[in-house]
Amino acid sequence: MARRARAERPLAAAQPPAGRAGARHVGRGGGGVVSGGYPQPERSRGVIALVEQNCTVCMLCVRECPDWCIEIDSHVERKPAEGPGGRPHSVHVLDRFAIDYGLCMYCGICVEACPFDALFWAPDPGYSALDVRDLVHERDRLGEWVKDVPPGALPAGLELPGASEGSQPAAGGPAAD
Ligand code: SF4
Ligand code: SF4
Repeated sequence: MARRARAERPLAAAQPPAGRAGARHVGRGGGGVVSGGYPQPERSRGVIALVEQNCTVCMLCVRECPDWCIEIDSHVERKPAEGPGGRPHSVHVLDRFAIDYGLCMYCGICVEACPFDALFWAPDPGYSALDVRDLVHERDRLGEWVKDVPPGALPAGLELPGASEGSQPAAGGPAAD
């Protein structure tokens, strides 16, 4: 009898709650990403977007990530003095920024820890891969997610470079010495 009662349960009661992701990514809706027919809330943790020009290579996100899934490589460059009274200085220049989504547990600590508004959540879960190596997103791909970040979540006045400029090295970071 119990089995029959479950079979007769109305279909609506078996639906996941509003906002829960389905298993299949099919496209976008007006209020957010549509996944399996269910809209993703705009602030959902789908994927992390990198605003590369804001990254100063401070390494805070790398240090705070509990899963060690962020990798950053950089080098130091000498910059000439800027303006009267300025002095030559050294800056860190980004060579590599990668997040391994095969390790990431979507805790959001890196996004919270970044003091320079360089990391943001984009509500896009559509990047599953057959090869686990494809879950490592390099800086260019992380930059491409920025277009999916809800506009209200980005800093006011942020000017995003074109897609082709998204891979430019970060310059003007904190003085290296
Ligand atoms: S969301 Fe958490 S686990 Fe994923 S990269 Fe950021 S700090 Fe690491
Ligand atoms: S993303 Fe943010 S926290 Fe990470 S290195 Fe760049 S500026 Fe620092």
